[in-house]
Amino acid sequence: MKKSIVFFLSLVLMMSCGTSKQKKVKYNSENEAKQTEENKTKDEYIKKAELSKYTISTNHFPAVGQNERVRFLILHYTAIDYPLSVKVLTQKEVSAHYLIPNAENDSIDLLVAEDKRAWHAGVSKWGKFENLNDTSIGIEIVNKGYEKVGNSNTYFDYTPTQIKKVAQLCKDIIERYKIEPTYVLGHSDVAPQRKLDPGPKFPWKKLYDEYEIGAWYEVQDFYLFYNSIMNNSTDLGNIEEIQKQFKKYGYDIEVNGENNEAFKKIVTVFQHHFRPEKYDGIVDAETYAILLALNKKYK
Ligand SMILES: [Zn+2]
Repeated sequence: MKKSIVFFLSLVLMMSCGTSKQKKVKYNSENEAKQTEENKTKDEYIKKAELSKYTISTNHFPAVGQNERVRFLILHYTAIDYPLSVKVLTQKEVSAHYLIPNAENDSIDLLVAEDKRAWHAGVSKWGKFENLNDTSIGIEIVNKGYEKVGNSNTYFDYTPTQIKKVAQLCKDIIERYKIEPTYVLGHSDVAPQRKLDPGPKFPWKKLYDEYEIGAWYEVQDFYLFYNSIMNNSTDLGNIEEIQKQFKKYGYDIEVNGENNEAFKKIVTVFQHHFRPEKYDGIVDAETYAILLALNKKYK
């Protein structure tokens, strides 16, 4: 009771005696205190120099002229089991930001902080970008890759739990860094002469259909191009033009008109990604129509 009387009296006092200037000063200092508190919290999240003699001011932060360093999201399989994957990706000169185990649990391992460069892509290229470790987030998925059966590779399935984890993680990363659909790629897309991961069992279509992750072509575009190719028998013989289309989409390809091993490797990894039912490295009407449909939609 006493307290409220005192409060009431001081309120009356403030209202009657306090000049507007005093009120303003009080308001400002409260506001300033609040702002300093906000800055403190904001500053804690900003990576910046801490100097003994000088303060780093964030009064003019953030400048408009900036963007995210991360532009790509690159998917891999580890080709080894989980314990070995952890060992290799944490103790050797390769790493990834995230590792998806193959156990039926709710866990995903963070191995490298997202603002650091992980060493997962190696010599790599997509469009005008090279050495994609600089500009990407890498996700490794524990999967044994493939085994050689005769002349062909038989690839191992990913578990449904792994795919659900990958989907949620990719979605989160893509949204935070605003990664373009055609910049969500497999290791093999960005290093087709050296790599085959994440392989044809990686469900790109499912991720696109169910989670809007990555790029996929429109079916109606596909049929338009497919029919046109079927009606023009010379289209599939024009290797130079086909190579130009691969280059247009982003693949690191030499446009030389030669149907050689290097070209076959690019066709194979493209088929892994977009036509995993058949990946023989031969450009047929279906493969070419998919490529043209993708370029129509995205390039
Ligand atoms: Zn890889």
